[in-house]
Amino acid sequence: MSSESKTGPSPSENVSDTIVGLIASVAGGKKSGLHEPMFMGREKEYLAECIDSGFVSSVGPFVERFENELAEFVGAERAIAVVNGTSALHLALVGLGICPGDEVIVPAMSFVATASSVVLAGAVPHFVDISPTTWGIDPDDLREYLRKTVRVRGGQSINTTSGRPVTAVVPMHTLGHPSDVRGIKGVADEFGLVVLEDAAESLGSYVGDAHTGLAGAAGVFSFNGNKTITTGGGGAIVTNDTDLASKLKHLSTTAKVPHQYEFDHDALAFNYRMPNINAALGVAQLEQLSKIIGRQRLLHDRYAEAFAQVTFGELKTEVPGTRANYWLQAYILSPQNSQAKAAVLTTCLDRGISVRPLWKPLNTLGPYRKFPSSQTPVAWDIYSRVVCLPSSAFL
Ligand SMILES: *Cc1c(COP(=O)(O)O)cnc(C)c1O
Repeated sequence: MSSESKTGPSPSENVSDTIVGLIASVAGGKKSGLHEPMFMGREKEYLAECIDSGFVSSVGPFVERFENELAEFVGAERAIAVVNGTSALHLALVGLGICPGDEVIVPAMSFVATASSVVLAGAVPHFVDISPTTWGIDPDDLREYLRKTVRVRGGQSINTTSGRPVTAVVPMHTLGHPSDVRGIKGVADEFGLVVLEDAAESLGSYVGDAHTGLAGAAGVFSFNGNKTITTGGGGAIVTNDTDLASKLKHLSTTAKVPHQYEFDHDALAFNYRMPNINAALGVAQLEQLSKIIGRQRLLHDRYAEAFAQVTFGELKTEVPGTRANYWLQAYILSPQNSQAKAAVLTTCLDRGISVRPLWKPLNTLGPYRKFPSSQTPVAWDIYSRVVCLPSSAFL
């Protein structure tokens, strides 16, 4: 044991204690989860309307209203509301024609649903690294990687190692920070890939003036209780392709052929439609969305002010040319301070302050290790240095 550790705290303890103090100075006064919902509008009124009318389930006016108002907010032709973000990804992949045996490129750094939905669709996830700037797929890296990995025949990419067709790429907007989806769409076009955005975390995030979710064929949002706005549980697909939208709607509602009384179903399909009672909550939450994002951005400014006092790392800040919803605030330790991550997490959690790390890179998880992957040093590096901070809008 060194004499230093006998006489006082080690340097990393000083770093972690200081960081915990700064987090507590912004978030410590109010006990909260990592990102709790905020109800300050007509939520109770609309829920009562559902209960009074009896329309709480698969029939009722709020679903269409939620779909229309969500489509309008993001600037999409159509939105299809479903039971959660994971089912939205699954349905979108199937609706876009992703077949069993196809390979689908996904970022190694994401919530597990980005990869599990691909496997549920019968396809094979193929993991790629992320950009240290956007924390999403980098278009130049993607192009270079595809050049090494596939050959293009008749506009279709075939993985030269596995022999499987690579048919889609699913960029994700980490913590609400947009990936370079325009660049990714350009590369996808070169290689004949469909783009499906996992925009689950990015409602209210923009690249230039364009809302996330619409750079490719379709985009997916989640309205789980911990997202920017919630429907209890819920998700949606947005698209500008009205034929695709009609197909997705049909597949989300058991592919039942409209008829006064007969049960006729013309495809193998899902029962993924969002119930009316969830949509009612969603309509009320959409009315509050701008206010909630304003608060999330203000919270970012407060963390920025607090962390400006130290040089242990930096707060994740929006990439120039993009506008983030700041769904989750994140502090990235500098490489020489990365060993403080575990202490910050355990000390905060012991004190009831809700923090968490980023997701373990998906290509390291048991069920996914067997799938193809590029080298993913950036995903590992970011994972080893990031702490997500209490991010509820009411803080
Ligand atoms: C939340 C989330 C999902 C899944 O949404 P659920 O509604 O929880 O199923 C998918 N992808 C990402 C990146 C998410 O953060």
